[in-house]
Amino acid sequence: MDWRHARTIVICLCLSLTASDLRSEDALGLLDDRMLHLRSGGDREWSSFPMQADGVNLDQPFESAANDTAWTLSLRQQDVKQSWEVRINDRPIGRLVRDENDLRTDLEIPPRTLVDGVNRLQVVQVGKIDPDDIRVGEIEIHAVKPRELRRGAELQVVITDQQDQLMPGRITVVNLDGTLVPVGASSSLGTAVREGVVYTGRGTATFGLRPGSYRIYGGRGFEYGIESARVDLRPGDRAKRTLKLTRQVDTEGWIACDTHIHTVTHSGHGDCTIDERMAALAGEGIELPIATDHNTQIDYTEPAKAAGSSAYFTPVVGNEVTTSRGHFNIFPTRTDAPLPDHQAPDWKSLFDSIFSASEVRVAILNHPRDLHSNFRPFSPRHHVSLVGANLDGFDRRFNAMELINSGAVQTDPMQLFEDWCGLINHGMKVTPVGSSDSHDVSRFIVGQGRTYIAGDDSDVAQIDVEAAVGAFLQGRVVVSYGLFADLRANDSSGPGEFVSLNPSQDLAVSVDVLGPTWTDVERIELWVNGRRRFAKPVSSEPSAEDPDSRPALDRNAVGNRRGRKAQARWSLARSELNGDVWITAVAIGQGVTAPYWPTAKPYQPDSIDFEPYVFTCTGPLWVDVDGDDRYTSPLGYAKQLLGECGLEGNAASDDVEGNWDALATRLGEMDASVVHQTVAWLLGRGVEIKSLREAADEPIRSGINEAERAWQRSVRARLEQSE
Ligand SMILES: [Zn+2]
Ligand SMILES: [Zn+2]
Repeated sequence: MDWRHARTIVICLCLSLTASDLRSEDALGLLDDRMLHLRSGGDREWSSFPMQADGVNLDQPFESAANDTAWTLSLRQQDVKQSWEVRINDRPIGRLVRDENDLRTDLEIPPRTLVDGVNRLQVVQVGKIDPDDIRVGEIEIHAVKPRELRRGAELQVVITDQQDQLMPGRITVVNLDGTLVPVGASSSLGTAVREGVVYTGRGTATFGLRPGSYRIYGGRGFEYGIESARVDLRPGDRAKRTLKLTRQVDTEGWIACDTHIHTVTHSGHGDCTIDERMAALAGEGIELPIATDHNTQIDYTEPAKAAGSSAYFTPVVGNEVTTSRGHFNIFPTRTDAPLPDHQAPDWKSLFDSIFSASEVRVAILNHPRDLHSNFRPFSPRHHVSLVGANLDGFDRRFNAMELINSGAVQTDPMQLFEDWCGLINHGMKVTPVGSSDSHDVSRFIVGQGRTYIAGDDSDVAQIDVEAAVGAFLQGRVVVSYGLFADLRANDSSGPGEFVSLNPSQDLAVSVDVLGPTWTDVERIELWVNGRRRFAKPVSSEPSAEDPDSRPALDRNAVGNRRGRKAQARWSLARSELNGDVWITAVAIGQGVTAPYWPTAKPYQPDSIDFEPYVFTCTGPLWVDVDGDDRYTSPLGYAKQLLGECGLEGNAASDDVEGNWDALATRLGEMDASVVHQTVAWLLGRGVEIKSLREAADEPIRSGINEAERAWQRSVRARLEQSE
């Protein structure tokens, strides 16, 4: 066969390989077009991969002809997290796409890289060697440039609303195996292009495709339905498809905000330029984007104009203050406002610096469980999650924290939520946040994690930023990651608001869970004072892979509210409430694996097992039960009781022994969160709690032990200096 005239060469198994070669750790044979499983770093990254990988690297002889011109190496890859270099005859020709999605990518083979006869192909992890299980295969060589390869046919996709008006959106292109495929187009103003993904800020995009059969999806983030179509393209075809999207989720009165957005232009890593970001923001339906590049303050106003995206959002200047003692997203600010000192030695000077700019009102503690610069803000070494106590005397002037960071997903969806509950029980006013931390066009989807802020969203280009920031700081928010929980108490008040119960009144709570047809809810919960009080399983049919096969109506819609998937009604009897409480609603369901909105795997996993999820929770709703017309926190009650029992002052002295009985009795009337706060307060001052334990009956004693165990875990972590 004359290779020079073959446009497509599938690399075949080098038949001289023996079975023992295949078992060796370093050398691999390419078995037909199968996918090979490679593992770097030694450890198994995910339990969804087999125990044993096919090899560490790919190192494969193959026959070819020499190339005088640029050719293409095309391959399929899955689950690529680290940097993997592709080499031909020891010459690097590019890297795999750092993206865990199932995608095909094309690499250009420079002229005179291939030789006549036997060549060598390698795929090798480079840089820091970290655990990474990947699959790579279906490797082809084409005797044309990548650009030529995607010119064989042309497709125009138009996205409209129900009134046939063009609308920004995300176009996802997969082959019939569901693999994202390269498209023959590159990003331009108003358009952002990656393998299998085209964001259009205008509602239409035209791109080349290799002749073949495809499925295309149109979507616009969380609030819209997904429409899809099959396209069969023969060489020379020019086709057009219009995808008419339905607004499926009723979020009127809620502003879609992503508080954590990067660009490669100003952060220096990731792959999304500031121009591409404008198309992606419009295409995902983010109405209030906060620009948070690292230690710099960027305004999207001009780039949005240039990209034609101004009508779709109101940009806010922010900054991810990136320090060796944590990352904090701050806003609103100005591009010409002084930058906070990101080298401030401690949180006190850091927050002094942040809030010295008068307009800055919000400081979000980002990804508090993630390790950066060998520091983890919520490591047990610094922080006791159960009671929200800090052991280092950090000046905690952040007023919000990320519960969902869809670019740095946590293994356990509830962990940051429970951390946050500890802070609220500790009497702190901390707004819960969902964000994306997206640095990329498609590896992590901008606005996937988001925060809905109560406010007027009727003109998304003219959002009242001052009012939105005020509502945000009041906690009038919903954290959204594929679901949206609408919490109401006594038919009116919502998150961040205050309800006063009269002595004969129970607390009636309703929760509506909203979402598009393509996400599922499995459980709704009501948490009271940071504890799960009610949980309702929600039955839903197994999700169909293909939105076309789904019924037009949301299969588990309830009532006639747009996007309502499930609801729960609960009542908290006044007689069971022994003090003020705060409540929040949580809903959770299976994650999305479909190519149009895949939820990511954990960034710093706690386990090799992972169940993808969607999640929502609400800001805190404050309930005055004791009738003093204000809300008292569990820590507030703890301090009151300690004061009443004469223990708030010099509690360590022996002559207060009699008061332990009084304290134990009073704690018996209180919520477990008050017991926890009391114990933590005492332990934090070095007071022995033996006498309290002896004076207490069940279940108070269990509460004491639980708080003590949490505290001791931190004491141990400090001794071991484990971050
Ligand atoms: Zn960060
Ligand atoms: Zn970030």
